[in-house]
Amino acid sequence: MNTLKHVDTNMANLISDLQTMIRQPSVSAKNEGIEECATLVSKILKKSGIPSEILRLKKGVAPLVYGEIKSKQNSSKTLMFYNHYDVQPAEPFDLWDDPPFSGKRKGNKIFGRGATDDKGELITRIKAVEACLKTTGDVPCNIKFVIEGEEETGSAHIEEYLKKYKKKFSCDGVIWEFGYVDSENRPIIGLGMKGLLFVELSVTESNIDAHSSLAALIKNPAWRLIEALKTLRDSDGKILIKDWYKEVTAFSKKDLEIIRNEPFDETVFKNEFGIKSFLGNKSGINAKKALVGGATCNIAGFVSGYTGDGAKTVLPGNALVKIDFRLVPKMDPKKQIMRLKNHLKSKGFSDVKMKIYHGEAAARTDSSDPFVSQVKDAADKVFGKSILNVSNAGTGPMFPFVDILKAPCISIGSTYMFSKIHSPNEFARVDLLKKTTKCICLIMQNFGKT
Ligand SMILES: [Zn+2]
Repeated sequence: MNTLKHVDTNMANLISDLQTMIRQPSVSAKNEGIEECATLVSKILKKSGIPSEILRLKKGVAPLVYGEIKSKQNSSKTLMFYNHYDVQPAEPFDLWDDPPFSGKRKGNKIFGRGATDDKGELITRIKAVEACLKTTGDVPCNIKFVIEGEEETGSAHIEEYLKKYKKKFSCDGVIWEFGYVDSENRPIIGLGMKGLLFVELSVTESNIDAHSSLAALIKNPAWRLIEALKTLRDSDGKILIKDWYKEVTAFSKKDLEIIRNEPFDETVFKNEFGIKSFLGNKSGINAKKALVGGATCNIAGFVSGYTGDGAKTVLPGNALVKIDFRLVPKMDPKKQIMRLKNHLKSKGFSDVKMKIYHGEAAARTDSSDPFVSQVKDAADKVFGKSILNVSNAGTGPMFPFVDILKAPCISIGSTYMFSKIHSPNEFARVDLLKKTTKCICLIMQNFGKT
């Protein structure tokens, strides 16, 4: 039997294995079912013909499920699947139509926390490898599975795992853990992720909140913080910190062509959010460029004084702001932190305290890498059409893979854009699970051929 045909006939098995995974809660934020789920995933790999073991770093760190199968016909190329077996908390429980870990199927949908993110994506990779093994007795290239258990809490140890098992994990390409499919059933092939720097800035002036009549004498920390914030960015979004963009390089010709071809309906987007215009009045290609490759400085939250009902004449004792900076390739989070610190100091804001929560670099696969056309060809064959995307506007731990393993990473998958991931009633679409599994089969074949 042909490999793609096998995917068609094996769907009941794919669905039941996915349901088994969904029914095992694995909430990393609460350390609920993590060990149990790692064991279960390892068993499903083995059952599907993929030798598997559980790797550990140290106590208190979620185990990593590893799978590896060597190709008999072509052992020179290795493709890695990076996924995660942990899920987001299912709360609020009362908004679910069925229990969150039911794995219930209703028509074309399978419901449950993790149905898509990321157990649904993982099962497409496993079943694609199984289909190759069952129909040809081999895989077209060497395959490695790296399935972590801390993605939903920020992948705190993936870098350490990659460093410790650098040799074991060595590969020539990585298929990322997710990939979106748009409302016209076109998979979006993502070539990168932005980085992130999350900081908290605060100013404390007096020991206590005071009567606001004293604003004649006591400095207001909220005003102070606003003055500091005003120096970080202009009203069009350009970051004013010295050397912030120093290492950033321009888009390549090929990148620009991809950006130009990527569909983006400004009107639909604006209507969705109820907004009239974009930051800096951007439009057309400039709006698209900003989304895939623009650095941002975003105020995520600002707290000070009284914001309850009615009036309260109070002079707050302190003010606090949380800021996320999205970083683009070549920006080193450590350098950017120093630049931010130096900026505040040089502008006379040494009294502004800074706390750093998270720093992660951006990663992007070169759009002219042959891996890109191998994935695109597979996606076009199965889905009829696909869209290339230079970089996701969000952040994921892609940088350590590119940096440590020196392998290009591409995201492609079955995540329907409106599949409610991280929300109540998350579901996976059976038709997309099937297509993605076939697409992964073709990616392995294309990858093995070269
Ligand atoms: Zn997620």
